[in-house]
Amino acid sequence: MRIDPHTHSSCSDGTDTPAELMAAAARAGLDVVGLTDHDTTDGWAEAAAAVGPTGVTLLRGTEISCAADGVTLHLLAYLFDPADPDLVRSLARSRSSRATRARDMVERLAEDYPVAWQDVLDQAGGAVTIGRPHIADALVAAGSFPDRSAAFAGPLATSSPYYVRHWALDPVEACVLVRAAGGVPVAAHPRAATRQRRLVPDETFAAMAEAGLAALEVDHRDHGPAQREAAHRLARRLGLGESGSSDYHGTGKPNRLGENLMPPALLEQIVAEGRLALVTPAD
Ligand code: AMP
Ligand code: FE
Ligand code: FE
Ligand code: ZN
Repeated sequence: MRIDPHTHSSCSDGTDTPAELMAAAARAGLDVVGLTDHDTTDGWAEAAAAVGPTGVTLLRGTEISCAADGVTLHLLAYLFDPADPDLVRSLARSRSSRATRARDMVERLAEDYPVAWQDVLDQAGGAVTIGRPHIADALVAAGSFPDRSAAFAGPLATSSPYYVRHWALDPVEACVLVRAAGGVPVAAHPRAATRQRRLVPDETFAAMAEAGLAALEVDHRDHGPAQREAAHRLARRLGLGESGSSDYHGTGKPNRLGENLMPPALLEQIVAEGRLALVTPAD
């Protein structure tokens, strides 16, 4: 069983539509793919409709933006009720704050780069969740940078004067919210230090474990061998499962579908605990 439980579509900052993502998952030889767009469930229906034609089973999820003491943390949530009022409200608040924040960043950037808010909207296309990658796309389209990664290494970095924060849930509260909605929370790339200098401390993960966290992502491209070992030890100490994923973003990142995988036993646990079922070709 090849399970890649963490990917993005054009509903957030990926470049494949949900249907294209399902087709790409089939070509990559995956049995199960998790669609986990940032702060939205918008792509679920289109991805589910592509399960039959592609033969790839769909794990429905989202990647919730969280922050603790100004340190960003991403929480994957699986198989929750997408109509749960509290979760719906929090995801909407994140998306709205992200849009405001992107406008603020573009306002700052426009003083030094040939970029306007409309350019970002044009690049975002059908995305309901706006992120720095869409600003990066506008800077690339304007010829200021060759690709997203170059823009992230420059004015879009968290340490840059153009950077603006957005509102995000507290990660412990987010675990409570996800469980209350019948979902199963998994911490995404908990040791990735490529994005920001500070890391979330172990105590926060311990509190998240108390609040229902099921697993940590250990195998992820943003973790080197030392980070994988640290995440593995932390998971063992806290009695958490261990996941792996590609965090595929289409052409927006070099990450390749299936480059890291989730163990089948963890998927079984998530299905046993989650309110929703997998969408399988037999449905
Ligand atoms: P934001 O959530 O708007 O702060 O932007 C963070 C998102 O940008 C992450 O979810 C990544 O998918 C993406 N990202 C981070 N670093 C890079 C990079 N070097 N190249 C492309 N995308 C990136
Ligand atoms: Fe992303
Ligand atoms: Fe993430
Ligand atoms: Zn992701």
